[in-house]
Amino acid sequence: MRIDLHTHSNCSDGTDSPTMLVHKAIAAGLDVIALTDHDTFAGIAEAQEAGKRSGLRVLNGLEISTKFEGRSVHLLGYGCDPRNADLKAELARIRAGRTERLPRMVDNLRAAGIDITIDEVYAQAGDASAVGRPHVADVLVRKGVVASRDEAFATWIGEGQPGYAERYACPVEEGIDLIHGARGVALIAHPWGRDTRAVLTADVFERLIREHQLDGIEVEHQDHDADARELLFEMGGRLGLIRTGSSDYHGKGKVAHELGCNLTRVQAYNELVARIRRRGGIV
Ligand code: AMP
Ligand code: ZN
Ligand code: FE
Ligand code: FE
Repeated sequence: MRIDLHTHSNCSDGTDSPTMLVHKAIAAGLDVIALTDHDTFAGIAEAQEAGKRSGLRVLNGLEISTKFEGRSVHLLGYGCDPRNADLKAELARIRAGRTERLPRMVDNLRAAGIDITIDEVYAQAGDASAVGRPHVADVLVRKGVVASRDEAFATWIGEGQPGYAERYACPVEEGIDLIHGARGVALIAHPWGRDTRAVLTADVFERLIREHQLDGIEVEHQDHDADARELLFEMGGRLGLIRTGSSDYHGKGKVAHELGCNLTRVQAYNELVARIRRRGGIV
């Protein structure tokens, strides 16, 4: 069984529609994917319908942007009830924070001499439910300011760059509780990617398990080098965490994140599904 538990569609900042994503997952030889768009369930129904028609299992997922000690920490929620009122309200708040931030980013970029408007960003985002920096990056690419999303983040819109602006995010502890409140299972995505390795120590994981029943962590991820993967696998095993692997596929939006480039072991997947069932979530 080939299982990839972290993918994005154009309902957030991926570039494939949920249906296209399903077709590409089948072409990549996958049996199970989870659609985990940023801060929205908007693509789940379409992906699951496409999956049913073509024989791919699509697990209901979500990636929530939270914060911990001033750093952005991404939480994966699996099997949540999308109708849960508290989770729904928080997701709406996070998406409002995304929308509120965009004009400030556009102002910052304009002040730095870049010709860009908020209308161009919205045109680029299309029907996306969660609009984000990658859509700003795509405008910069289209205008020839930069060659890629990566370059846009590195020179214009990454933290500390001239176009960057902060946005609202809830504490990681609150995110875990909200996922559990919606009967889902909560995993920390790419815990040692980018700048979070320094703050997400073994002690922090132990506390999140003890006080918030954190369920697991992503281990096999492109943001982790071989050393990080080995240490996380060992630590996660010692702490009893579910350890997954995924591509974090974004279509054309992220290079070297091809579908199936990292996989989740069948045993970890079965554990995840069993835990969703125990919590009364959706499988
Ligand atoms: P936002 O959520 O709007 O702040 O944008 C952050 C999102 O942009 C992340 O969740 C990634 O999906 C994406 N991202 C971050 N850094 C890069 C990068 N260097 N290249 C492409 N996408 C990126
Ligand atoms: Zn993304
Ligand atoms: Fe992420
Ligand atoms: Fe992601």
